[in-house]
Amino acid sequence: MALHPYDLYDVRSLLSEEERAVQDTVARFTNERVLPIIGDAFDEGRFPKELVPEIAGLGLLGSSLPEKYGCAGLNSVSYGLICQELERGDSGIRSFVSVQSSLCMYPIYAYGSEEQRQRWLPDMAAGKVIGCFGLTEPHGGSDPANMKTHAKRDGDDWVINGSKMWITNGNLADIAIVWAMTDEGIQGFLVEKGMPGFTAQEVKHKMSLRASVTSALFFDNVRVPDSNRLPNVKGLKGPLGCLTQARYGITWGPIGAAVACLDEALRYTKERILFGRPVAATQAVQLKLADMARRITTAQLLSLQLGRLKDAGTMQPTQVSLAKWNNVRMAIDIAREARDLLGGAGITTEHCPIRHALNLESVITYEGTETVHQLVVGRELTGINAF
Ligand SMILES: Cc1cc2nc3c(=O)[nH]c(=O)nc-3n(C[C@H](O)[C@H](O)[C@H](O)COP(=O)(O)OP(=O)(O)OC[C@H]3O[C@@H](n4cnc5c(N)ncnc54)[C@H](O)[C@@H]3O)c2cc1C
Repeated sequence: MALHPYDLYDVRSLLSEEERAVQDTVARFTNERVLPIIGDAFDEGRFPKELVPEIAGLGLLGSSLPEKYGCAGLNSVSYGLICQELERGDSGIRSFVSVQSSLCMYPIYAYGSEEQRQRWLPDMAAGKVIGCFGLTEPHGGSDPANMKTHAKRDGDDWVINGSKMWITNGNLADIAIVWAMTDEGIQGFLVEKGMPGFTAQEVKHKMSLRASVTSALFFDNVRVPDSNRLPNVKGLKGPLGCLTQARYGITWGPIGAAVACLDEALRYTKERILFGRPVAATQAVQLKLADMARRITTAQLLSLQLGRLKDAGTMQPTQVSLAKWNNVRMAIDIAREARDLLGGAGITTEHCPIRHALNLESVITYEGTETVHQLVVGRELTGINAF
């Protein structure tokens, strides 16, 4: 029996019935709703906001959180499969879901009060309230401990001053989870759109993640009530805990992008006749295609085992770093190689590889650059912090 070219190790057979159903549902959504519009959205530099109600209707926002908050209560492997199938469409769509789910809903669930959970989570699951996550600052995202944005207590309020940079969903968002330095260390605040002194400015001229909104946030004496502070966490472990959730999903997403690129490369090289035969009949091209399949298979197994560890409650941040590094590197290399195999046709957004390659330039940088994740693994091996 022929093997499936995008699942040579039959990883799908390791999934439960529910996990397969989730994958199939999201795959259908991507095929029917994302793929027909995404090339144009990328060209136009437009986030397809019209998809948000459908994404919410499928239960893809905060999918791992409990049903009592209006969420789907799915396991981590299902969340990973959601990311994989969405990113087969575009990294921008997956980024929207990652930020809403892992960086905004998760901290409200994990660090918020019951009142905050009740107030925000059902509307966020329904896509009625959109969130963004402000950690990175203009002077250097890899070193978040050196945070300049600060919040000062003033009676029952906090007054926030500072700025954040490269914030996904920034201009779309109704609420921002903002991490700020206080006298008691880093704390998280829910800053609502329209609060005086809070402004967002969209980053223009991006060549990557063009179908996603990226913004700078500014805080000029923004007064926030203490009831908008996340009460159950202090210190860098707050934002880092969110990043571990999001990075976990990001290990899966690029598998989808890589599969989309291999799919195009396979089809194109089998149809392209050069020197009297399909270019796929040459050894040089088959080596490249085989190498893509090898790397995708490795990434699939890595993410699935990571998901099983996460569902068992034993996943370690270093394991997430290893998988984020491996899988994003795998996908960006495949996207560039696929672009090359398409020749001149590969440089337009009529075909997906260049769009994925450009998007993955952001994915390899955000949520910890590749170097940062390599240093995390190096620290685990040696016990020496080389940052
Ligand atoms: C499209 C996009 C969306 C984003 N969305 C969000 C978001 O929603 N929320 C948010 O908070 N942030 C977001 N980010 C920010 C992202 O997380 C940061 O860009 C990232 O952490 C890197 O920070 P930086 O850009 O300041 O680079 P820097 O930290 O200045 O790094 C510059 C270079 O130095 C290298 N480097 C850093 N430290 C070391 C070291 N010790 N040794 C060797 N090399 C080192 C890095 O690997 C990199 O190559 C987003 C970024 C992008 C591009």
